[in-house]
Amino acid sequence: MAKLTVFLFCALSAPFVLSHDHEDNILHGHGHHRLLSQKPRGCGYQAPDSATIQKMAIAQEERVARVEQERGFTSQIGFPCIFGRARTEIDTYLHAIQMTDGTGFLSDAVLKENIRVTNKLLSSTGFQLNVVLTNRVTSDSWYMSNWDSPEQNAMERQYKEGGLNTLNVYYKAAILGNERFCGYANSAENAVSMGTRDGVVIDSGCTGGIDETTLAHEVGHWMNLLHTFDGGCSPGDMVDDTNAQASYHGIYEGKCPNPLPDTCPNQRGRDPLDNIMDYAPSGCDDIFTRGQARRMQEAWRNIRDV
Ligand SMILES: [Zn+2]
Repeated sequence: MAKLTVFLFCALSAPFVLSHDHEDNILHGHGHHRLLSQKPRGCGYQAPDSATIQKMAIAQEERVARVEQERGFTSQIGFPCIFGRARTEIDTYLHAIQMTDGTGFLSDAVLKENIRVTNKLLSSTGFQLNVVLTNRVTSDSWYMSNWDSPEQNAMERQYKEGGLNTLNVYYKAAILGNERFCGYANSAENAVSMGTRDGVVIDSGCTGGIDETTLAHEVGHWMNLLHTFDGGCSPGDMVDDTNAQASYHGIYEGKCPNPLPDTCPNQRGRDPLDNIMDYAPSGCDDIFTRGQARRMQEAWRNIRDV
């Protein structure tokens, strides 16, 4: 499936984020919404609708064509093989926010393991996270703040490091539209308009166990990947080697279904539940495809690292 992501974070509301057919979607987040009192689950990212995805595809083609003209070489999207090339290290700042009563505290060992697992999952994409600094902040209001709230925006303005090619990860309660997710992120596509809000939020309860892939998933969004089911059977996720998938399945518990479901029976292959950009149940493997890696590379070269 192919993915492009447009984020217009300003109009955020719970129905907006959770609706799967909304226009102008915004955040990439993992999965299901939960009440604040429940354990966080899922991703707050919501994909654009089909028309928007098609517009994004055109924007991507134009971006690639413009860069080819400016730089005098060809083949950005279709670059045949990023594997075996030098790895790109993304300077990464971790902001570990906790409450005054210790809620949300993550030890250095937990953070280190979260990055280790994420880098292992990212290894096939050519990207690795290089942690420059871990910034610890105790703030009740920031920890419990909503996405795009005055509290969260002010703290991100104060603490965000670097430019478009620097990843800021905020470990806190990943609240968006007053509901709690495992994580959310904006895409590369709208990184400029996000300004100091550009980054990834990971709920401090989603760094391990069945949620240990959350950071890799949100980094995928931050590097312009959609969910494998975004865009449905058509136009899909803007990646050509992820099988078409109409919707996500059961989410977190239980084993990977066998046989895999096929929600787009008229298209090749079964649903890619083994993909990191799906909400794969535990028991499924988690992979990025080459097509997703190419899409991330394109976003890096033409948007983030320019
Ligand atoms: Zn997501």
